[in-house]
Amino acid sequence: MEEWTKEEAERVYNIPTWGEGYFDINAQGDLIVKYNEKIKPINIREVVGEMKSQGVHFPAVIRFHDVLRSQVIKINKTFGEVIDEAKFNGKYCGVYPVKVNQMREVVEEIVDAGEEYNYGLEAGSKPELLSALAYNTNREALTVLNGYKDEDYLRLALYGRQLGRKVIVVIEKYSELPKLLKLSKEMQVKPLIGLRGKMSVKSRGRWAKSTGDRAKFGLSISEMIKAVNLMKKEGLSDCVKLFHFHIGSQISDIRTFKEAISEGARIFTQLYKMGCHLEYFDAGGGLGIDYDGTRSTSDSSVNYTLVEYVSDIVYGLKQICDLESVPHPNIVTESGRAITAHHSLVITNVIDQINVKQPNHDTTQREDEHHLIKNMREMHRWDMVEDNFQEIYNEAIQIKDQALGAFNLGVISLEDRAIIETLYWQIIERLQKLCKTLEFVPEELHDLEESLAPQYLCNFSVFQSAADHWAIDQLLPVVPISRLNEKPNVECSIADITCDSDGIIKKFINKDGISKTMAIHEIREEEEYLVGMFLTGAYQDVMGDMHNLFGRLHEVHVYGDNDDPQGFYIEEIIKGNTASAVLSTMQYNPEYMAQKMKKNVSKIVSEGKLPPRQGVKLVDFYEDCLTSYTYLRS
Ligand SMILES: *Cc1c(COP(=O)(O)O)cnc(C)c1O
Repeated sequence: MEEWTKEEAERVYNIPTWGEGYFDINAQGDLIVKYNEKIKPINIREVVGEMKSQGVHFPAVIRFHDVLRSQVIKINKTFGEVIDEAKFNGKYCGVYPVKVNQMREVVEEIVDAGEEYNYGLEAGSKPELLSALAYNTNREALTVLNGYKDEDYLRLALYGRQLGRKVIVVIEKYSELPKLLKLSKEMQVKPLIGLRGKMSVKSRGRWAKSTGDRAKFGLSISEMIKAVNLMKKEGLSDCVKLFHFHIGSQISDIRTFKEAISEGARIFTQLYKMGCHLEYFDAGGGLGIDYDGTRSTSDSSVNYTLVEYVSDIVYGLKQICDLESVPHPNIVTESGRAITAHHSLVITNVIDQINVKQPNHDTTQREDEHHLIKNMREMHRWDMVEDNFQEIYNEAIQIKDQALGAFNLGVISLEDRAIIETLYWQIIERLQKLCKTLEFVPEELHDLEESLAPQYLCNFSVFQSAADHWAIDQLLPVVPISRLNEKPNVECSIADITCDSDGIIKKFINKDGISKTMAIHEIREEEEYLVGMFLTGAYQDVMGDMHNLFGRLHEVHVYGDNDDPQGFYIEEIIKGNTASAVLSTMQYNPEYMAQKMKKNVSKIVSEGKLPPRQGVKLVDFYEDCLTSYTYLRS
């Protein structure tokens, strides 16, 4: 084994950049989680050991709740510091958008960590509002309501007001306003109202459709004026409290924010001067994550830091308010991704390897070989050098194609084909080695490395655990959790266990940027090789689907504890879906299925085709599988 330094490992997997300081490598080459100087680091391998001793198998989600808390504190502190430094008169009143990760434990942890900052919640649908009403009981914290609303949604919001909560209904569509006013008269509750602006700033990248004239949400300038006039006419202009915009998620270029803040601040000050004494400026979500660690404007990265983002909002807003002589409002942001992405990871094991190259058939020369074999041998005998490799490559490909044709016509045997293909792969292997030493490699051989990379088969489903990777090409860091003091000498890609050819990870961080393969270790016999998929805490955590009926993963919730010998404890285990649970969601009745199996087995037994003892075993095993985890037992 070749020694490897921590710096080399960090460079290949880009850990310091995407990790936000939460991940590190210890002297034994294990990946560790660290929060701050006060809490002892946690070794992920040790968490896995404890998980397994408690009967939790792969794949599993590990949640580090301290990371979640730490992110909540970080955003609140940063806003606090920048606001003080800028002598800005408003406060920061952030909210967490529930849709980014609706898990109760996640919402509870965020509300708890944010309590001292009066950090609130944002809801975008009725069920989310139901959860916000139950969990955001802090009367100083905001509950911001977005999304299209029916009468029930609005009624719930007004009940929230009756409970003394700061529930702000953001008007996404003009028609919601008269509905809300009618209901508030009927219930005799004064609403708190927000207006969402349709921004014209061009958001770049994937969420570009969130802005512009054809954006789905928000009021145009003329609709906003109409809304303000209506409120004035009703004598309710003091109910309009908040101006809101949201220009999309994962904004990778800071300039997009700068432009949105200018436009938003101008609209805000104008509305103020029209007589709506707004108290809150809500800049929505969009704070991005550096998934690939490149600090760039690529779709999976960001070219700014949290402090830069916060400064742009605070200073940008202050400047325009001061110019327009409008008092500084309180600032709201609705960051979801940046709060939750880092706290969870999916851990799984490599169960097998799929190789493209198969140089293992016996190629000893026999008498009377078919001329195609002879031709391939000829190529194989050539000494491959810079001058002839292209010719050998072209020739070898042609012979391999001819051999396939000959095989399909019944001219050569299975044995012949195996010899030809083995020789071919040996030639390709030599070619690959040669290409690595060359300065100039022809275009068609560029992808040779990638196309020859083995696939490591991992026990998980891309559709369940990396939905964003599959659907929108979001890059997720994939890193082995141990042996990081050892040089990884295999380039491979990762496939899941679904029977879908889309079930692969096709984009990795690599030392030269982004590539289709990742550096990984050769797997030793009898070794359990574990890889973690990181930054899965936002969106994909809750977006998994039922593809192949794999369902939700086991989950463990980890807290740091300095008094514990290992520095952590597992506070909760949530078991993933059993086969019968996922079958039930598809309208199957597992009990009935078991009965049906039993009846069928009895019939076969009574016909004398199966010994009764075997029959009982079969039924027991069927029932055992129904109540077991859907993923591979390993
Ligand atoms: C989705 C959403 C958010 C969260 O955005 P992030 O980019 O995850 O911070 C905030 N506000 C609204 C209105 C949203 O729809």
